[in-house]
Amino acid sequence: MVSGKFTFFHGPTSNGNLHDNIMAQKKLIVIGGGAAGFFCAVNAARLNPKIEVVIVEKNNKILSKVSVSCGCRCNVTHSCFDIQELVKKYPRGQNFLKKSFHWFNTQHTIDWFEERGVTLATEADGRMFPITNTSQTIIDCLMKETNKYGVRINYSTEIIEIKKTDSVFELLTNSNQVIQADFICIACGGYPKSTQFEWLQKIDHHIETPVPSLFTFNVPQHPILQLMGVSVESAHIKITGTKLSNEGPLLITHWGFSGPAVLKLSAYAARVLAEKNYDFTILINWIKDYNEHSLRDEWIHIREKFAAQKVHSKNPFQVPNRLWQFLLQLCEIQEQQRWADITVKQQNQLIRLLTAHEFQVKGKTTFKEEFVTCGGIQLSEVEANTMQSKKMQNLFFAGEILDVDGITGGFNFQNAWTSGWLAAKSIAAL
Ligand SMILES: Cc1cc2nc3c(=O)[nH]c(=O)nc-3n(C[C@H](O)[C@H](O)[C@H](O)COP(=O)(O)OP(=O)(O)OC[C@H]3O[C@@H](n4cnc5c(N)ncnc54)[C@H](O)[C@@H]3O)c2cc1C
Repeated sequence: MVSGKFTFFHGPTSNGNLHDNIMAQKKLIVIGGGAAGFFCAVNAARLNPKIEVVIVEKNNKILSKVSVSCGCRCNVTHSCFDIQELVKKYPRGQNFLKKSFHWFNTQHTIDWFEERGVTLATEADGRMFPITNTSQTIIDCLMKETNKYGVRINYSTEIIEIKKTDSVFELLTNSNQVIQADFICIACGGYPKSTQFEWLQKIDHHIETPVPSLFTFNVPQHPILQLMGVSVESAHIKITGTKLSNEGPLLITHWGFSGPAVLKLSAYAARVLAEKNYDFTILINWIKDYNEHSLRDEWIHIREKFAAQKVHSKNPFQVPNRLWQFLLQLCEIQEQQRWADITVKQQNQLIRLLTAHEFQVKGKTTFKEEFVTCGGIQLSEVEANTMQSKKMQNLFFAGEILDVDGITGGFNFQNAWTSGWLAAKSIAAL
């Protein structure tokens, strides 16, 4: 993270020659010093040296999320190079991103950083990090570009209102100053509350109501919580009454369920679950290679094969032993009982619990590692190939302020790089 004191720049300098140059220049104000804002600023300044570029940041720190992301390692992007596959990682914005990724996708991100001496390494699950394993490498790279292309940063300056006259934008700051700009790129990140978007609604843009994404499911006081710490390699979770489901590693925590399968499902179901006020029912299939029907078919063979063995000590499925014991207890299968002795009632109950274990979820816990907001500027009002507003010329958007959000794994930063770069390219061309 880089911090600095207020370096507000407003209008031409007292230097005569510079004055003339600056007067001839077009000015871009980027609102927000996060990943998207920096990517827009440094690329615009590089692609068109005639543009004067200023980043305006409300805090006295920039690139805060880049700094802390993924334990300060910064999960820059994901090694997914097929655009059709890539867009599936975004619960909101898929059609929009199909167009944007055509111009700047994961490969472009890797190349962009590589060209500036930052090599990205891929982990087994596809996440990509700087080879140095520290987010400071990304910050240093962006700051180097900032200095190289003369991008200025105004710290501690919050934009609270935007007005457009015939020829220029006028941005009102929280200290009552007015900054003029020919182009603006709004890269102020996601806001969790609708009221925080009011200054943007005043410029005639509509907002998809923000709701949280990427959270874990609470099952208060449920006996399963005694299994806290148990993880299942690959479970399938379905939200009843919807078509929403996901599968992958699942972790039992002291408040409920977490792990990639749950976080991804929470992202895809973010709106539906907000409407249900986080009170809903899930079915967990602990052995996702079977469904109730196929397990019933297989049961007779399993039972015959292990007939003489005790059910408690012979677990034929890929579920952790603590979970197996817990399920047998729920079915009242005794310690001494053998596979051959399981009653029909116990058998039916065990098959049901293994393949469709029902839980009532009440509440959520926000996943702090990679919090992201679902909602933002409606995509129908933004041109996906340029990031320009369809409602106001020379107004651009980039990053999480758009109604785009991805699951965990580097996809949210990829959206920031893509939209920041596209806005820069479009502004530079104008
Ligand atoms: C803890 C954490 C970890 C994360 N880890 C990852 C990860 O590993 N991989 C991944 O892909 N994604 C991750 N994400 C998500 C990712 O960080 C964001 O999607 C991304 O940073 C969005 O970039 P942005 O530039 O659009 O917004 P931001 O990074 O939020 O930047 C917006 C900036 O605008 C400023 N601002 C806001 N309003 C104004 C205003 N009115 N005037 C002036 N300035 C303003 C803010 O102070 C902020 O600095 C993480 C998020 C969090 C919170």
